[in-house]
Amino acid sequence: MSEGRKIILVTGGTGLVGRGIQNIVESNKNKNEKWIFVGTKDADLCDKKSTEKLFKKHKPTHVVHLAAMVGGLFHNMAHNLDFLRKNIHINDNVLQSAHENDVIKVISCLSTCIFPDETIYPIDESMIHNGPPHPSNYGYSYAKRLIDVQNRGYYEQYGRIYTSIVPCNVFGPNDNFHPGASHVIPALMRRLYDLIKEGNTEDKVFTILGSGRPLRQFIYSLDLAKLIIWVLRDYNSVEPIILSVDESQEVTISQVAETIAKAFNFKGKLVYDTSAADGQYKKTASNEKLRKYLPDFKFTPFNEAIKDTVDWYIQNYDQARN
Ligand code: NDP
Repeated sequence: MSEGRKIILVTGGTGLVGRGIQNIVESNKNKNEKWIFVGTKDADLCDKKSTEKLFKKHKPTHVVHLAAMVGGLFHNMAHNLDFLRKNIHINDNVLQSAHENDVIKVISCLSTCIFPDETIYPIDESMIHNGPPHPSNYGYSYAKRLIDVQNRGYYEQYGRIYTSIVPCNVFGPNDNFHPGASHVIPALMRRLYDLIKEGNTEDKVFTILGSGRPLRQFIYSLDLAKLIIWVLRDYNSVEPIILSVDESQEVTISQVAETIAKAFNFKGKLVYDTSAADGQYKKTASNEKLRKYLPDFKFTPFNEAIKDTVDWYIQNYDQARN
């Protein structure tokens, strides 16, 4: 590993996770690191020439590869082939350009939602390829799984340490609040804020789809950012690593809705529409591997992170992705 100055290129640097990293590095400057955050305006990573140009321009020594075609359940279901092809192209262009430009380390982003549909819980890093993913997002999932296959190839053939991280559900400032985005936290925030804007009164009813009972793990984007910076500086293995809150920090969807309602100081009532589908009851991931490295890492308490995100959303509503 080079001891010199690191030039770190962050693809997907304009998204939820990328902006989280930007926020942390700005308040924690390290003069041996130059960070460059790029989005679609800087390059179309589906295109090899455009990707090569980006690498030639910035000459990174390290890459945090976050860029991806990302979408909610219904978008995935209707466009599985697009998710597969676009993400395969983006990932191959970034990894191969990194290799050709002698990049020392690449950290790419998988997700806990690409794991086998039929599995035992908690899921861990050894289970990624153990069976087909859920049919609703097979395109996204197989493209993501191939990153791990490709990383192993670069190691076997060239000794490269190109690795991957596996976050659970992420939320925070700069999330996508568009109703079609369908990630549960920004979707609930958007709907509740729309309701509150009509008047925050006791007769208002906020309906949550499903029973509210399913369990999920959520990581605050600023906590994930700190962990990604740790991976960049100190984790030197090709093997994927799950970046998730502890199993004890799993929350129900009703806890999520109540915490958001409290953060907005919502005066009305929450109602659960139990006729709507709940989805999988749980998808618990184990962060045991992460905890072996960082036993003392403190995740921001869920209610604080939700409050910060709600405050950010209210203050930045006009510029947010709505
Ligand atoms: P966002 O949707 O917020 O951001 C996506 C980023 O990718 C944007 O910066 C976007 O640029 C860029 N991008 C998309 N297509 C291209 C392209 N063709 N060329 C160049 N750049 C492109 O995503 P997140 O921050 O939520 O996700 C980051 C990573 O984390 C992804 O790999 C995702 O799969 C993974 N992940 C996310 C989770 C979550 O809950 N959000 C959970 C687990 C993993 P622009 O802004 O210009 O459009």
